[in-house]
Amino acid sequence: MLHTLLHEAGHAYVADQGIPILGKEEDAVDNFAAVIMLNYVDQGADATISAADMFAFESDDRPDYYDFYEYIGEHSFDLQRYFATLCLVYGSDPDAHKDLLDEIEDEYRDEQKDKCIATFEEIDYNWKQVLNIKSEENS
Ligand SMILES: [Zn+2]
Repeated sequence: MLHTLLHEAGHAYVADQGIPILGKEEDAVDNFAAVIMLNYVDQGADATISAADMFAFESDDRPDYYDFYEYIGEHSFDLQRYFATLCLVYGSDPDAHKDLLDEIEDEYRDEQKDKCIATFEEIDYNWKQVLNIKSEENS
């Protein structure tokens, strides 16, 4: 719920501030929502995990095969949004979320955990850069 609001606020912020997005804006504002919740919201990790679970829930309706227009669509698939969100939660505090990525196959899990730590650091840093730069410009 909060994730959805922040996702939409992210779109508005990007449009309002003219922030250059290099990649899928839908993914960028998902990341924005997760980073804001993880950094600034009380119990934000739990709320972010709930948001991820909603993506997993929505993914239960997925077809066995996607049509091509779905591959070219602006949103990543729900299961990708689920794992991308969990990845940020894990990366934000690996010790607190040791079991969060247990669904990932053993042989890939450790490597993926490392990637999630790096991914969170990068996305967190980049969004903070954007938010700081923009707030300084406005002050
Ligand atoms: Zn969107």
